[in-house]
Amino acid sequence: MQITTAQFLQSNTNVGKCPTGNRPEYAFIGRSNVGKSSLINMLCDRTSLAKVSGTPGKTQLINHFLINNAWHLVDLPGYGYAKVGRDARNKFQRIITDYVMRRQQLTLLFVLVDCRHEAQRIDLDFMRMLGENGIPFAIIFTKADKLREQELALRVDAYRRQMLVEWEELPPMFVTSAARRIGRDEVLDYIDQINQTL
Ligand code: GDP
Repeated sequence: MQITTAQFLQSNTNVGKCPTGNRPEYAFIGRSNVGKSSLINMLCDRTSLAKVSGTPGKTQLINHFLINNAWHLVDLPGYGYAKVGRDARNKFQRIITDYVMRRQQLTLLFVLVDCRHEAQRIDLDFMRMLGENGIPFAIIFTKADKLREQELALRVDAYRRQMLVEWEELPPMFVTSAARRIGRDEVLDYIDQINQTL
């Protein structure tokens, strides 16, 4: 899929105030600093559509973008950053859960994980909640340029095995690097494929 237009629509903390209409929506979520803003900018071919955070945990809002006048890309708050404190963490958690559970237009959630790390409890718990609630998701491994090819393959394989402890079937997985523009076509084509079926 070519991205012809990418336009910021709105930011808010309330799922009830998200854009109306029935455009399919693809949301991106992950721990702070996972590389979510960089990935969104890479996918949309823009240098600063999403703000690359100097301060982890800074993106505290549900940010809607309109892509190709056809679908929404949603940048969700980063979760699990220790320094924001418990109250702020609970607030993000509530915003995220509310959005994920109540947003009817949500077509697929991309859960971002840093390819260098083993599966983190917070991500696994979040994915289990998605599974329990029947919310479709896919995993995006970020920062693939940080590992050599062989190490990367081992890491992805280890992640799959960790997931298979809890899951019978694995979600789709994509390996990406915003720095080297890896995985862009795969993610966009996947979105396109789903859009064609709607
Ligand atoms: P966010 O907090 O999840 O939105 O993450 P950012 O996009 O702000 O990225 C966090 C840090 O990781 C920044 O210093 C980025 O430059 C760096 N980063 C993001 N994506 C990549 C990548 O693909 N490769 C490398 N090497 N660094 C990245």
